[in-house]
Amino acid sequence: MGSTPLLTEGGRPGATMGPGTDAAPRHPALVSGAPAPETPPETPPYRSIFAHAPLAMAVISPRGTVVSANETLGTLLGVTPEGLVGRAAADLVDLAADGRTWSAYREVLAGDRSRLRCTRRLRRPDGQALWAQVTVAPLDGDAPGLLLSVADISARRELQARLRHLQLHDPVTLLPNRALFFEQLTAALDPEADAYGGTGRVGLCYLDLDGFKAVNDTLGHRVGDRLLTAVAERLTRCAEEAWQSRAGAPLVARLGGDEFALLVRDSTGTDQLADLAESVLDALQEPFDLSDRRLSVTASVGVVERRVTGTTPTALMQAADTTLYWAKADGRARWTLFDPERNAHRMTRQALAATLRPAIERGEFALEYQPLVGMADGRLRGVEALVRWNHPQFGVLTPNRFIALAEEDGAIVPLGRWVLRTACLQARRWQLDHPGEPPIFVSVNVAVRQVWDSDLVADVARTLEETGLAPELLQLELTESALMGSAGRPIQALRALSGMGVHIAIDDFGTGYSNLAYLSRLPVSVLKLDGSFVRGFQYDSRGGGREAESSPADEVIVEAMVQLAHRLGLSVTAECVETSDQAARLRRIGCDTGQGWLYSRPVAPGRISDLLAQAAVGKP
Ligand code: C2E
Ligand code: MG
Ligand code: MG
Repeated sequence: MGSTPLLTEGGRPGATMGPGTDAAPRHPALVSGAPAPETPPETPPYRSIFAHAPLAMAVISPRGTVVSANETLGTLLGVTPEGLVGRAAADLVDLAADGRTWSAYREVLAGDRSRLRCTRRLRRPDGQALWAQVTVAPLDGDAPGLLLSVADISARRELQARLRHLQLHDPVTLLPNRALFFEQLTAALDPEADAYGGTGRVGLCYLDLDGFKAVNDTLGHRVGDRLLTAVAERLTRCAEEAWQSRAGAPLVARLGGDEFALLVRDSTGTDQLADLAESVLDALQEPFDLSDRRLSVTASVGVVERRVTGTTPTALMQAADTTLYWAKADGRARWTLFDPERNAHRMTRQALAATLRPAIERGEFALEYQPLVGMADGRLRGVEALVRWNHPQFGVLTPNRFIALAEEDGAIVPLGRWVLRTACLQARRWQLDHPGEPPIFVSVNVAVRQVWDSDLVADVARTLEETGLAPELLQLELTESALMGSAGRPIQALRALSGMGVHIAIDDFGTGYSNLAYLSRLPVSVLKLDGSFVRGFQYDSRGGGREAESSPADEVIVEAMVQLAHRLGLSVTAECVETSDQAARLRRIGCDTGQGWLYSRPVAPGRISDLLAQAAVGKP
């Protein structure tokens, strides 16, 4: 075929492209939009367009040999365009590399398929690799032959790869993130992976640093981040060393916060995972030197190892989560192996829900009381009643485990009645036992369902009457979201309660709509600022960096809220006051009362009696 030109003058395909092509139109793609010249010029414009087009192209014969190539393709492959003529197109762009592409290519050549498009990794003459999108499609019209085009998509591929990398990695530790971990876990659990000679098993070490929150809270996020990065490095080293350059080292990922996972594909059994967990704990033993600080951390590790068949990512993660929880409960700084028997005893939501109502009758609930303290003078003003469930099987359960359940099935109504009565009785008891002290009020949490499903007003009125507690010594806490938009019954109930002299507090204020103007129209007298605001105070504003940024902003917001609340006639209680620094700031801002571990954890009623007795002794 030699150096047959791509197209003969007048736009007809070259002689080698077969007979009977005289009437074939010009390649429309190359002339599209160009009005046909009345007399064909010496060198038709499409020919030069083809020759100099930035897209690498060649016309190939139905047998797959290059009939003509343009400069860009020549440059791409390091051969002159003429030098490409007569060569097999498939060799130039590696179309035989995989069976599917090869047969699709054969079909396009034979006219049985309209087009082939594939991506190929090619090599430039200087050795540099590139990603190419190769397209083979018949020339339009009746012209025999096909057009091969090769687009360099390296830049796009690289960008895609970079984006994917960003999406799948944690920016702090540079480890694979949760998304990539789950992608890999799902792949590892593909039962077909078995077919490739794997062990058909999978293992997971799920790890959580003990006390990391304290590091973050006391030393700031920057130190926390540095610690996480250092931990990530040790875990990676540990995984590599354990596998000693054998293929299939565990995937180390950061699942979020201070949680990491080591995923062992094709694990060989629990021993292997136990060894890995052991070496992880070892690796973290040595203290961390972070610029000017030396920190020691421990970790708790949940270990699960099982057959791939019959396991799902969710089931495996649940097992790992439960096991990690055991490791923590067993005293931290340890690894624990998943134990199906222990798991069987794990409380289920259903088990709890089913036993809620009888538990009220059996007297399994108890109240603890947490002091509410005047910010200005540190005096005990009142207490919040917090319910606990002394479960015969599962031990003491905090309300987060069962209040939502009780709300769902309506058991909150009898439970709430019991709480109200017990708290009012207790408050009256303290008052009678400590007549020399100003009486303290009791604050009782009320779920919105109690307002809808029972006659709360009547319940409160009866309880106050029976216990003899003055209405002013009872405060009811409702969340903002419970009240928002509920124009009818709850608002009427609040008005009636407020009319009786009972105080209404908005609990966890700031987590919902934070609509002070709306709330001020309700008979509300106290705002309880959610703990998340106070937590924003934990940083020293002189510390520099990220800590400095978060602190003043929060302080400004809280200060504005407190001022507005005061102007609307509400008093403000800050929740979750844990440090004296927080207390000092809250005091400066004008918060009226504080509640939190700084003053006291929730305690048994006897401890509150002690506090009242101490206050009496401390009096001048
Ligand atoms: P809440 O009303 O916001 O109660 C405050 C919660 O914050 C309590 O958790 C308390 O132990 C905790 N807390 C107090 N000080 C601090 C602190 O300084 N730092 C931190 N991190 N936490 C602190 P608890 O007792 O687990 O109660 C959780 C929630 O359960 C309560 O949140 C309340 O919404 C609900 N709840 C408790 N008792 C009852 C009840 O009798 N009835 C209803 N409906 N809900 C209740
Ligand atoms: Mg509360
Ligand atoms: Mg609260």
